[in-house]
Amino acid sequence: MSEKLTDLFGSDVFNEATMVERLPKKTYAALKKTIENGEDLDPTVAEVVANAMKDWAIERGATHYTHWFQPMTGITAEKHDSFISPTSNGKALMEFSGKELIKGEPDASSFPSGGLRATFEARGYSVWDCTSPAFLREDASGVTLCIPTAFCSYTGEALDMKTPLLRSMEAINTQAVRILKLFGHDVKRVTTSVGPEQEYFLVDKAKYLKRDDLIFTGRTLFGAMPPKGQELEDHYFGCIKERVASFMKELNIELWKMGVTAKTQHNEVAPAQHELAPIYASSNIATDHNQLVMECMKRIANRHSLTCLLHEKPFAGVNGSGKHNNWSMVADNGKNLLDPGKTPHENVQFLLFLAAVLKAVDLHSDLLRVSAANPGNDHRLGANEAPPAIISVFLGSQLEDVLIQLIETGEAKSSKDGGRMNVGVHTIPEFKKDATDRNRTSPFAFTGNKFEFRMVASSMSIGTANTVLNTIVADVLGNMADELEKANDFDLAVHDLIKKTVTEHKKIVFNGNGYSEAWVEEAERRGLPNIKSMVEAIPAMVTDKAVNLFEKHHVFSSVELHSRAEILYEAYSKAINIEAKTMISMASVKYIPAVIKYTKKLADSINSIKSAVSDADVSVQSELLKETSTLLAKAQAALKKLQAAVTEASAKEDGAEMANCFKDAVVPAMTDLRAPIDALELIVEKELWPVPTYGDLLFEI
Ligand code: ADP
Ligand code: MG
Repeated sequence: MSEKLTDLFGSDVFNEATMVERLPKKTYAALKKTIENGEDLDPTVAEVVANAMKDWAIERGATHYTHWFQPMTGITAEKHDSFISPTSNGKALMEFSGKELIKGEPDASSFPSGGLRATFEARGYSVWDCTSPAFLREDASGVTLCIPTAFCSYTGEALDMKTPLLRSMEAINTQAVRILKLFGHDVKRVTTSVGPEQEYFLVDKAKYLKRDDLIFTGRTLFGAMPPKGQELEDHYFGCIKERVASFMKELNIELWKMGVTAKTQHNEVAPAQHELAPIYASSNIATDHNQLVMECMKRIANRHSLTCLLHEKPFAGVNGSGKHNNWSMVADNGKNLLDPGKTPHENVQFLLFLAAVLKAVDLHSDLLRVSAANPGNDHRLGANEAPPAIISVFLGSQLEDVLIQLIETGEAKSSKDGGRMNVGVHTIPEFKKDATDRNRTSPFAFTGNKFEFRMVASSMSIGTANTVLNTIVADVLGNMADELEKANDFDLAVHDLIKKTVTEHKKIVFNGNGYSEAWVEEAERRGLPNIKSMVEAIPAMVTDKAVNLFEKHHVFSSVELHSRAEILYEAYSKAINIEAKTMISMASVKYIPAVIKYTKKLADSINSIKSAVSDADVSVQSELLKETSTLLAKAQAALKKLQAAVTEASAKEDGAEMANCFKDAVVPAMTDLRAPIDALELIVEKELWPVPTYGDLLFEI
């Protein structure tokens, strides 16, 4: 396998090696300049690249190409065109022009635009992103050449996840390079790297198909916990392994072929839950690849009669799924700017970047919070299984100690575990990469040479989270550069700046247990926001602070931000509306009729026993009948209330108002309907229960 793997890896990618092999030297050099230095692309270069790409793709069986883009639905979109072009003699040629490579025209009106559509034309363009390589994808429809593209409106507004991400990468590049210049480095480019760890569930497809809630909403809306939750894990390990392993094997091969560096895979805490982590790549490619990972997981699960659930909370009472977004900044000399390093000089630089991240997270935690907000994540954040909804930074005790020394004495002389460091002010004690797993409860943890943003939702694109992260850090670095560029004594100025920044923003640092109630109170004392839901998080996108920040760095215009906030409100309302309607339907046509059958069975039993032996003891049946009937009545009442709540929320005209109504009226009504049905599940005869239970779904695959 190992020799084969090296051949296999990237075999379906139009990567550097392929370009070197297939492009004329001059074309390759021109394209590389665009990729590496962001220079404008010459249309004649595109023409040559298109032709080479087409030949390469056709040799590998491709019949179609697609501009692959990431609209604001959070998933990817594609429209396939064949290479076929008719000739005058009734035959066909395979053609693909530079124009077709560079630009496509999907109708923007079919994708969420948050009001941009009302003001602007429906025309939309997908534009080639040559920094993310084209690749081939094989599915039932054959082989398709996929060209990663950005997607924007006729008037240039970004309608996707990629455009703002690329803009934010430019922003952080500009500002980080300024800082590095001050430290005397001849660096041309700083890129952000991301390694997203992806969690997911696998369930049996046949069972999945019996649950409307899973089909329509991706999560169970009803379901009692199996009576022996933990003990059943033995069963899980015993049975599931083979099928999941063969899924993982095939998934890896598919991903490797597309150049996705799937590296780590393991079972997660919850039964039927797993994780896949790739080797990190530039933010843009990592974001594209993460979409491919999610897409592939779903497709390949299907081939194994499994269904992959990417929802943040498929099962109540069972740990949900998230994404750990590992993030760092790397200069073009290969140096990771978040690596503490060994020499004092570099340590100052590290401390400055560290201080910048602390400040950025403290100032803009509301933006990070909204970047991780979706309806599914509302069930996880702050529910003692995932980070709290309060954003804080974990540094580990050694690094925090260094910062405290800096704040208190202006010097960091020692590391906490005793080793003397004599290098004076501009150093931090060397510390081992051991902080990583010590605090699983922190939403934003320093893990050796990177920050791990752990709030990101499992089903979401990581695009927005990284756009925010890059922009907020770019902004702080820019302000720091403004100050330092003016300084007469750089060494002194940088020392003062680190001390000042750390002192002002130390309130964001928290190394304790993020799941504890005490932290919620402490965070409130510190003035850290605790934004509990997606709907409450959205306004952060359109504050003056946010508009100024994003406009300053040309990442989002005010119009784009407002449209995105609208899209989020709409997405929330739609998601809850679908969930509520699914619940209403399942309760009406599945659960309630099943329970009625059961009550009838009990009543028949009582009657027939009584008529056979008039003084026989039917107390069990009577008790069950009473209990069941009471719960049934409760369910029916809750159903009516939920229907009324949905009607009320749906009637709201304003997007924010509607979303708030769904959150405040519909969501609690859903909980009220679920409670009696879940209680009934534990009473009603299993044979009569109309859908597979948690036990069936989680343990029997
Ligand atoms: P852990 O979360 O246990 O520390 P790893 O160290 O294996 O696990 O890293 C998890 C993810 O972080 C992987 O996707 C890995 O590629 C990524 N990663 C490692 N180093 C960096 C870095 N410098 N920048 C961004 N991501 C990184
Ligand atoms: Mg991790």
